[in-house]
Amino acid sequence: MKALVIDRIHEDGIALLKQFCEVDVRYPLAREEFAEVIGDYDILIGRATPETGSIQAPMLERSGRLKVIGIASVGLDQFDLEYIQSKNIKLINLPGVNSISVAEHAIALLLSGIRSIVPAYQQMKNGIWNKHGFPNAMELHGKTMGIIGFGNIGKKVGQIAKHGFGMEVLAYDPYIGKSEIMEAGAQPAYFEDLLVQSDVVSIHAPLTEETYRLFGKKEILQMKKDAVLINVSRGGIIDEEALYECMAKGHLLFAGIDVQEKEPCDDLPLFSLDNFISTPHIAGLTSDALRRAGIQIAKECLEYLGV
Ligand code: NAD
Repeated sequence: MKALVIDRIHEDGIALLKQFCEVDVRYPLAREEFAEVIGDYDILIGRATPETGSIQAPMLERSGRLKVIGIASVGLDQFDLEYIQSKNIKLINLPGVNSISVAEHAIALLLSGIRSIVPAYQQMKNGIWNKHGFPNAMELHGKTMGIIGFGNIGKKVGQIAKHGFGMEVLAYDPYIGKSEIMEAGAQPAYFEDLLVQSDVVSIHAPLTEETYRLFGKKEILQMKKDAVLINVSRGGIIDEEALYECMAKGHLLFAGIDVQEKEPCDDLPLFSLDNFISTPHIAGLTSDALRRAGIQIAKECLEYLGV
């Protein structure tokens, strides 16, 4: 058997594949070349943000013996699922594989924001010992965390907020039952109630037509003036211009995001604000999650082929 690996996959996953098949690791691989060589392989392994670009027609026209595509991450929004299915190829991804990493990143943004870690250190490096310069610093204990989208990641953030910090947790998720929310230790809430009542709002819903710009000016202004907004889910769910306008006028204590509407992104009006932090879509990229994903995707593809 032969496997083609077209993205950065953890070495332990590659080692596992090598126990059972011949493995070619080739990235970046131009789309034309991919289309030419793919017919030699039984297994294709990549990631949701593929170096080769998303797998679309006609890349698999000559897929010949290809039986399984393994995606060592979560989202499949970039793949032409119908086309892949029409080729009778099994597509495997790993829902939840990096949930812990993403949830912890949401908390990292939150803590760094409410305790002004980045500006305090920047000032200190510049010789400013600003001991009394951060009077808005706050505790999380006893405050209310509102979670939008209570799936794998939302639930983990809720657990950390409740058990780690002693917060009350509200959850808005129209696609799961109230009992599921309550069993996970949160209170179900309507969207507007959550906005009004929460001290921290953390977004963990997928980007859909319904969630696109779910947070516009109106919604941001419904939040408490000194609330915190965190988004590690997808850019586009927050209207970045509206967020800037509201924050520039003093609404919100802090906002932290890992995802931008257009990525890569090296400039936003928001970057000029001291109470805003952004990271370049790295929430899921810990060594632990990458290793877990590499091993698991190799295992699941081999299992599918009966190895
Ligand atoms: P999940 O599918 O387990 O949970 C998503 C939840 O959102 C579901 O419970 C769903 O019912 C809910 N939802 C759907 N539409 C909604 C709406 N209109 N309003 C409120 N809730 C809604 O997914 P997950 O694994 O928890 O991941 C959540 C999102 O995080 C993903 O969609 C992805 O966009 C993002 N993500 C980001 C990174 C990163 O590196 N920043 C990594 C992984 C995932």
